[in-house]
Amino acid sequence: MSKGRIFIISGPSGVGKDTLIKEVLPRIDGAFLSVSLTTRPPRQGERDGVDYYFVTDKYFRDQVRAGNMLEYADFCTVCYGTPKPPVDEALRLGRPVILKIERDGMEQVRRIYPDAVTIFLAPPSAQVLRHRLLKRNSDSEEAIERRLQRAVYEIEKSGDYMHTVVNDKLEDAADKLEAVIKSYL
Ligand code: ADP
Ligand code: 5GP
Repeated sequence: MSKGRIFIISGPSGVGKDTLIKEVLPRIDGAFLSVSLTTRPPRQGERDGVDYYFVTDKYFRDQVRAGNMLEYADFCTVCYGTPKPPVDEALRLGRPVILKIERDGMEQVRRIYPDAVTIFLAPPSAQVLRHRLLKRNSDSEEAIERRLQRAVYEIEKSGDYMHTVVNDKLEDAADKLEAVIKSYL
């Protein structure tokens, strides 16, 4: 089997990262999707250990201190991070590793794995992004505003990524994301 490689997928909250990854993951042989730790509460329908590990601030800090995190970041007052051991193991087995993380985490991972492939998912427009966040209906109005402000910053800085995929029509975006990943395998 070929050497494992990390694929970092970022994009503003509500752009469709989960939706697209769910669509594309089964198309990539052996792909491993990392499950992050977060200190935010679960949204309706989210499952512990599947969507995230939902943990306390103390547990999160302890994991950081123990050196068990590949990267971590504070995003809109919540901590998120990637547990290191499962990623190490997947890479050892030569699997493509998918990290769905924001840009601070992306920068940390690229310092450790310079051959990581970085992909930014962009919305077709700011109005569409707002509409998707409202449609998801899982955050308070205040949280949505915070996420939209953060989105403006992330979109401005998206030139730092190797690839950009615009999530307009889901099927087209899924095909493009699949093609980008497969071009490195
Ligand atoms: P993220 O993981 O980036 O926060 P989600 O995958 O939760 O975003 O998507 C946010 C909302 O937008 C969901 O309601 C999802 O069904 C919807 N959505 C995602 N992609 C598209 C698309 N291409 N067209 C229309 N709606 C979409
Ligand atoms: P959400 O709360 O909408 O699930 O995620 C908010 C943001 O945190 C998204 O941009 C998502 O990509 C990012 N995120 C999720 N897990 C991680 C992680 O492990 N590390 C980092 N740095 N960001 C993460």
